[in-house]
Amino acid sequence: VNGRYWCELAWLGGDTLTAGVLVDVSGDRIAAVHNGTGAPAGAVRLDGITLPGLANVHSHAFHRALRGRTHRGRGTFWTWRDRMYEVAERLDPESYLELARATYAEMALAGMTTVGEFHYLHHAPGGIRYSEPNVMSAALAAAATEAGVRLSILDTCYLSAGVSASGMLPLTGVQQRFGDGDADAWAGRVRSFVPPAGVRTGAAIHSVRAVDPAAMRTVAAVGDELGVLHVHVSEQQAENEACQAAYGCSPTQLLADAGALGTHSTLVHATHLSTVDGKLVSGAGSGICLCPTTERDLADGIGTPAPGIPVSLGSDSHAVIDLFEEARAVELDERLRTGGRGHRTPAELMHAATEAGHRALGWPDAGRIATGALADLVTVDTRTVRLAGAATEADGLAAVVFAGGAADVRHVVVGGRRVVADGTHLLVDDVPGRLARAIERMLP
Ligand SMILES: [Zn+2]
Repeated sequence: VNGRYWCELAWLGGDTLTAGVLVDVSGDRIAAVHNGTGAPAGAVRLDGITLPGLANVHSHAFHRALRGRTHRGRGTFWTWRDRMYEVAERLDPESYLELARATYAEMALAGMTTVGEFHYLHHAPGGIRYSEPNVMSAALAAAATEAGVRLSILDTCYLSAGVSASGMLPLTGVQQRFGDGDADAWAGRVRSFVPPAGVRTGAAIHSVRAVDPAAMRTVAAVGDELGVLHVHVSEQQAENEACQAAYGCSPTQLLADAGALGTHSTLVHATHLSTVDGKLVSGAGSGICLCPTTERDLADGIGTPAPGIPVSLGSDSHAVIDLFEEARAVELDERLRTGGRGHRTPAELMHAATEAGHRALGWPDAGRIATGALADLVTVDTRTVRLAGAATEADGLAAVVFAGGAADVRHVVVGGRRVVADGTHLLVDDVPGRLARAIERMLP
C-alpha cells in the first residue's frame, strides 16, 4: 500500500452514501476499501463527498476557444461550425498542445479523470502531411499526460464534406486538414501511433456525412481491434434527411449495415433516433453519449435513449466543462419534454458520469470505488455555499447531482496520484492564465 485516503462520505454505487470509507491504494489501483472507519493517522483526509473519477466521453479540445463567442444571436449548428473552422484553421502542433493542456487541466479541476478526445484535426493546412503523421495525436497525448488525466484518442476518419444523392462531396478549405484520403490510409496512420502510458487509441467515424459505407466497414474493423468505436449520429435532422435521400435509410441503419454497431460502440448525440433506430442500438448492445449542454446550446434537440441503453456523458463543444451539469440535464430535459419527473435516479446519472463513461472509452476497470479498480477519486466539497447543509448519507448524492458543480470539486486522484488538492492543480500552474493565453493566440 502506497497511499491511504479517508473519505468522510463516499459513493460506492448505491442510492445512498457511506460514511467513513478508507481507501488503500497500491500502485495505480485500489487495494482495499474499508467501510465505517474513523480517520487513521497518516491517511489523506478527503472531507466532503468522494466519488469515483468522472469520464468526459466526448471532447473536442480546441472548441474551448469558442466559449462565450458563439452563443449570441440567431445562428444555427451550421453557423457555429463556421466559427469552429476558423479556430481549426489556425492550430499547429505547438499551439494545440498549449490549448489542450490548459483545457484538460480545466477538466481535471472539474473532477474528470479520463477524457475521450474525438480527434480529426490530423494534418497541416491544405491537407499537407506533417513529417510525423501523428504529431497532432502526440500533442494531445502530451497535453493529457502533463495535465494528469487519462486519455482515449478517438482517432476519427473524416473523408468527405457531405453526402448527396449523387455521391460524397469532397473536402474543401479547412476540412482538408481532417482527411486521410481513404479509409486504408486512415487505418495505417492510426495503427502506426504508439500511445504513451495512460493514453489509449480508439476508432471513430466522424458521421455518415463524412464517411461512406465502404469506408465505415474499414473503420469498424479497426474499432473491433482497438475495442472502442465512436461515431456522431443524428445530431441534426438535416443529417437524417441527407442520409435518407442518399441511401434510403437512417444513419443508425446505415451504421448497423456497415457492422459499426457492437458492444464497444458509442453513438454520440443520437438526438433524432426513431424507435426502430433505438431497437438497433439496444439490440447491438451499443451505448449512447449525450452532451446536453452542447445540444441545448446548438438547438439540436433532446436525445431520449431507450431504457436499457448504456448512457455516458460528454462536454463536447465545452460551452461549459461540468459533468454534474451534463448529468442533471439528462433528467431535467426529460422532465421538460414529458411533463413528469423521476426518469433516472441520481445513482443512474452518476453511473453515466463515471463507470459507464469509462467503459465507453475502453477503461472498464475505472469509474468505481472498489478493490482492484484504478484508483481515481474525486472529492466534492460540501461546505460550499451551494452544498452546505445538503450532505447527508441519504440525500447527499442527489444534492451533488442536482446542485453541485465543477467549482465544488476539491481533490482529484488519478491512478493513485494526487492531481488536484484543495482546488489547486498540482501539475499545471495558473490554469486560467494558460487558457486565456492559449485562446488569445487562436483568435483573429
Ligand atoms: Zn462532437
